[in-house]
Amino acid sequence: LFLPERVNSKGFDLRDVPTLEEMDAARDPWRTASWAAAPIIAGEAQPETPEPVTNPYLDTDSPGSVAHASPGDVQTALDAARPWQAPAGDRAAVLNKVADLYEENFGPLFAIIAREAGKTPLDAVAELREAVDFLRYYAANAPDAPPAGVFSCISPWNFPLAIFTGQVSAALAAGNAVLAKPADQTPLIAHEAVKLMHEAGVPREALQFLPGAGSVVGAAITSDPRVNGVAFTGSTATAQRIRTAMAENLTPGAPLIAETGGINAMIVDSTALPEQAVQAIVESAFQSAGQRCSALRCLYVQEDIVGDFLDMLTGAMKELRLGDPWHVSTDAGPVIDSAAQSEIAAHIAQAQADGRVIYQTSTPQTGSFIAPTLIRVGGIEDLDKEIFGPVLHVATFRAEELDTVIDTINGTGYGLTFGLQTRIDDRVQHVADRIHAGNIYVNRNQIGAIVGSQPFGGEGLSGTGPKAGGPHYLARFTAPERKGASG
Ligand code: GLU
Repeated sequence: LFLPERVNSKGFDLRDVPTLEEMDAARDPWRTASWAAAPIIAGEAQPETPEPVTNPYLDTDSPGSVAHASPGDVQTALDAARPWQAPAGDRAAVLNKVADLYEENFGPLFAIIAREAGKTPLDAVAELREAVDFLRYYAANAPDAPPAGVFSCISPWNFPLAIFTGQVSAALAAGNAVLAKPADQTPLIAHEAVKLMHEAGVPREALQFLPGAGSVVGAAITSDPRVNGVAFTGSTATAQRIRTAMAENLTPGAPLIAETGGINAMIVDSTALPEQAVQAIVESAFQSAGQRCSALRCLYVQEDIVGDFLDMLTGAMKELRLGDPWHVSTDAGPVIDSAAQSEIAAHIAQAQADGRVIYQTSTPQTGSFIAPTLIRVGGIEDLDKEIFGPVLHVATFRAEELDTVIDTINGTGYGLTFGLQTRIDDRVQHVADRIHAGNIYVNRNQIGAIVGSQPFGGEGLSGTGPKAGGPHYLARFTAPERKGASG
């Protein structure tokens, strides 16, 4: 996987004062700006009435508005969609140009990510870097094989630029016509991305933008026989609905590339370096307010060390700064909206009622915040769903129970990320051989997979594969080989 000819985006070093000044100078003019997202189709759009887009940190701020695609717009887009006929090398050149434009426009892009998605500068930097990496990685590997045809790309709000860009650029690198539907909560950043893609030279017929509800736009672009494949990142339940709609309406064999949820675990044994493990846990569970598919949800700590270890962990949690996502010193912003906040709060309230809350920090008074929380559980089997926020469940195990713990983690049926903290070398291999997870991390955090070197994706209920940012991903966006065809 090491690609010496390609270098990942450098990002920004937020400890460096001149870099911070440069970032602020580029972002500040956009702090009160307003954007208007609307469908972009190869034809005349007749969208619905615009609705305000909200800022999860500040009720009084509106970063802009979104006009949803009407059912008529979706039909116009489907009629107009044409695969991108340029040779692979030309498509690659355009995608590399998009990467350059993203980097040049980081000021407004960071501002939108902060105000529409509540992301901190650290998260915004990671997001831009990953988006640029996807563009350059898929450009470098653009296949010559014929495209699948028309690809629908449906992306989540938690990586509103990176995953949106990853899906769309993969489909485009392979020469497909793309119908892109952003998440409801984050249309503004996706709209800017599409504008930059068109500016770089992606033809309109090859990339159309259809903001709207999953039940309207999402349903239409996954059940129309003119669609040849779907890339989706979001919940397992939605992926299952999409699969059913595709099976009923699309050509048999049309690919669904789904990245879904996880109930991700980490095992900390009694030999782990406590300082390193605590830092890895805090980042994995609470960075991005826990709103990553890769985030740590269930921590297993060996019984012999649990008392002191939890003291250290709660001490580190106490230091977390929750607040305005605009500020570079903020560790975690709000969760995406008040609906998410209520759902997570209900889960915590239940744990409180059961006397299982070990520790909870405090939150600012405004914005859809959830205080980072530790909840005691008997084991991962007590979690019947993914809680998508800054909530960490903690269980203990005895040394002789290690294999049982692994079986229990595998028993969830999910398999996205897994973390192990140990200083026993043999144990690393032992656990890695048994655990079912797409991405296994040892003695570090378990978020932030790097495009090209850490392809990202899970197994079982966590996704269909192939892994994003890996060598097999693009092949799924090309036409299935015609078996038995002569020539
Ligand atoms: N690729 C991201 C990471 O490694 C997670 C993607 C997601 O949340 O869907 O943290």
